[in-house]
Amino acid sequence: MKVELHLHTSRYSACSKATPAELMERLVQSGYEAVFITEHDAVWSEREIEQLQQGFPDIRIFPGVELSTGPQKMQHLLILGTTDPEYTRLGDVAEILAKARDEGHLTVLAHPFRWEGGAEMLDNGLLPDALEFRTNNQNRKKAKIAADAAERLGLPLVNSGDVHGLKFVNHFWIETDMPLGKATNIRAVVLNRAYVNRKSGK
Ligand SMILES: [Zn+2]
Ligand SMILES: [Zn+2]
Repeated sequence: MKVELHLHTSRYSACSKATPAELMERLVQSGYEAVFITEHDAVWSEREIEQLQQGFPDIRIFPGVELSTGPQKMQHLLILGTTDPEYTRLGDVAEILAKARDEGHLTVLAHPFRWEGGAEMLDNGLLPDALEFRTNNQNRKKAKIAADAAERLGLPLVNSGDVHGLKFVNHFWIETDMPLGKATNIRAVVLNRAYVNRKSGK
């Protein structure tokens, strides 16, 4: 199963160049079977997810969020599977991680070394479940730094598209044989390393 873990739509992420429907259509065409919608500091409601899901029966659509945290808001934390707007009101990383763990949601530190301050939490002993590896927004060099940190900390690494438009689809993703019947299953998939990181041939 080909899975996108990190995707922005023009509905709630001003920086995304494509609508939810355009993105779902492209993902289906590209063989994806599951996607997590992770807007910047905004969650989709269950009803919104259901409505989009009805139009695209060939892909499982799950909610999530990408939270901007840290003093400069440069530390981006993905919470996969949630529709709870409370996450966008919590500023404290320790609180966010504790809530996610309680609720069974996977936490991923997005593009940790893209910007200064992007991985501060790691130095403070606040560990997410996983670190992002290759994405359209984290080049090979930065990904290598993430890989070194992941090895040092014993954390899994995941590829994602960090999708902000149609051109971002089908470059970096994960593949798993485990069923993703519900959103919280992704946590077990990643923690048990029951997936592989994939990238397009080019
Ligand atoms: Zn980000
Ligand atoms: Zn993002």
